[in-house]
Amino acid sequence: VKREGGNRFEYYSPESSIAWTRDRLELEKELRTAILNDELQVFFQPIINARTHQITRMEALVRWPHPTRGFLSPSEFIPLAENVGLIEQLGELVLRMSCLSAYRLLQQGYPVNVAVNVNPRQLMNKNFLQTILKTLQDTQLPAGSLILEITESSIVNNIERVSIILKTLKQLNILIALDDFGTGYSSLTLLRELPIDILKIDKSFVRTLDQNQSDLTIVQAIIGLGNNMGLMVVAEGVETAEQNQILLQHQCYHQQGYYFSRPVPYNALVELIHTKNSSRSPVRDLYEVN
Ligand code: C2E
Ligand code: MG
Ligand code: MG
Ligand code: MG
Repeated sequence: VKREGGNRFEYYSPESSIAWTRDRLELEKELRTAILNDELQVFFQPIINARTHQITRMEALVRWPHPTRGFLSPSEFIPLAENVGLIEQLGELVLRMSCLSAYRLLQQGYPVNVAVNVNPRQLMNKNFLQTILKTLQDTQLPAGSLILEITESSIVNNIERVSIILKTLKQLNILIALDDFGTGYSSLTLLRELPIDILKIDKSFVRTLDQNQSDLTIVQAIIGLGNNMGLMVVAEGVETAEQNQILLQHQCYHQQGYYFSRPVPYNALVELIHTKNSSRSPVRDLYEVN
């Protein structure tokens, strides 16, 4: 029985189709309860300044420790949350936990910005700006420490509306990252129309960087584009020393991936930051770019 969310079409026998529907309804109920009871967890994956090896940012990635199904990853429940109207609540929870964590780090002397993924439905919700403002106020995190990661898919049909929202966020000093850059259909139009601060090179290009000349060419072009537009460029999905080195050689200094660390719970991230950041001067990079 397939449990994955989304609107995938698969062939089922009637019995398994009924079982699948029941299973999904069950999962929906459980997700609702998990959100209500604050059972979702937020893991953090460091984003590294590959020149200084300091952790300068972190991406918040939601996890669901399910009582019987094990640790569920976002692909297993975000589509469900979208379909059943739970994504806004889920997003608010993640945002709040992320801002709290970043604030705690800041208090300990580590100004590590936090990047939070924003689902298209969240972005389009009429209360979105209000939610962001209230969360910053409640958690006391400075707006300049928050990065919102959006994907092209959320924007293409609503570019004017999104443009207004992003401009408001920018006025507040919040940073905007374009996630999975290069995988959509209108990346360049979006760059021209929207106030973007950060480009995240999609991991599908990074994965075969060291084997595939055309991927390297694409990555080089994205880095050049970003640098020339004064944007920060982050490579995601860096898994090997070789990828790390090639990216460095091509002036991509901000990197994220299993090569440095997997997404980890807050306490483990603090440990990482202690070892990586404390022996050196305070995080300089924040003031170098952006
Ligand atoms: P994303 O925002 O592009 O996040 C990066 C994904 O790549 C994460 O998967 C991360 O664990 C994974 N990753 C990081 N480094 C590597 C690497 O070196 N190799 C490989 N193969 N993968 C790597 P994850 O946590 O499963 O999240 C998947 C997607 O789910 C995210 O993609 C994001 O679009 C969405 N997502 C995650 N958390 C949230 C959330 O709190 N809210 C919303 N709306 N979406 C979320
Ligand atoms: Mg992301
Ligand atoms: Mg991505
Ligand atoms: Mg993604």
